[in-house]
Amino acid sequence: MKVLVADAINEKGIENLKEVADVTVDTSITPEDLVKTIKEYDGIIVRSRTKVTKEVIANADNLKIIARAGVGVDNIDLDAATEKGIMVVNSPESTSITVAEHTMGLLLSMARKLSIADKSVKEGKWEKKRFMGVELRNKTLGVIGMGRIGSQVVNRCKAFEMDAVAYDPYLPEEVATQMGVELTDLETVLKKADFITIHVPLTPETKHLISHDEFELMKDSAFITNCARGGIIDEDALYDALKNEKIGGAALDVYEEEPPAEDSKLFELDNIVLTPHIAASTQEAQRDAAIIVADEIIELFKG
Ligand code: NAD
Repeated sequence: MKVLVADAINEKGIENLKEVADVTVDTSITPEDLVKTIKEYDGIIVRSRTKVTKEVIANADNLKIIARAGVGVDNIDLDAATEKGIMVVNSPESTSITVAEHTMGLLLSMARKLSIADKSVKEGKWEKKRFMGVELRNKTLGVIGMGRIGSQVVNRCKAFEMDAVAYDPYLPEEVATQMGVELTDLETVLKKADFITIHVPLTPETKHLISHDEFELMKDSAFITNCARGGIIDEDALYDALKNEKIGGAALDVYEEEPPAEDSKLFELDNIVLTPHIAASTQEAQRDAAIIVADEIIELFKG
């Protein structure tokens, strides 16, 4: 069995794969070369650089599995793969803790104004009064989407002595109860929460889930963070809410356009913390992603 590793993945995954397959690592393969050579392989591992297009799949005479080390399979033509009976796997569970930890970082950064305080000190200033913060303790966390990541954020926030309310129409009530979370409707979450955190997929239903009307419902002191997908928060509405101090602050890891335009108006604001889609970027998450997809391939090949 031959496997092509087309994007950089953790060495441990490659090592495991080598026990059952002949592994070629070519992390700079061009789209043209991939179309030409894909017929030699029984499996391919990608992250987000390599696009497994309809054309690639049309030429994949021996391919049995396409593995995406990480979350999201937007770079794989799923219809073409399904039509050809090629299995597609990914490893969404590999990044849950990492994204939950990044969310905690953003919550604390918003509460204590860490990023602007850092900037100010590096500018030679000592503005202690400007950076009065708030505690997380006794505040209400509002979770939108209580899946793998949302529930890990709740666990961590419980350690900070926060209460939690959540909106997730697909979550059974008893699961929420077991986690000590009050499951309710979106409006109640927006009205009650001091810190709102978004962990839903981007779908037609969740596109601009948070827009002008939703910001109106929030407390003036509310903070909101999005580590899920750009487009769930309407960025124009967010800008207005922050500019007019309708809410206390925001933190984004994901954007409607990535990277955001160089002249994005969000960059003018002091009450927003921005990271460049790095919520899943830790050594541990990358290692786990590689091991999980390698295991999927090994299992398939072993039959
Ligand atoms: P998950 O599927 O485990 O959980 C998603 C939850 O959202 C589910 O419980 C589901 O019932 C709920 N949900 C779906 N539609 C909803 C709606 N309309 N309203 C309310 N709840 C709804 O997913 P996950 O692994 O926890 O990932 C959550 C999000 O994080 C996804 O968008 C994923 O793409 C994103 N993510 C981002 C990064 C990053 O680098 N920033 C990394 C990993 C995952």
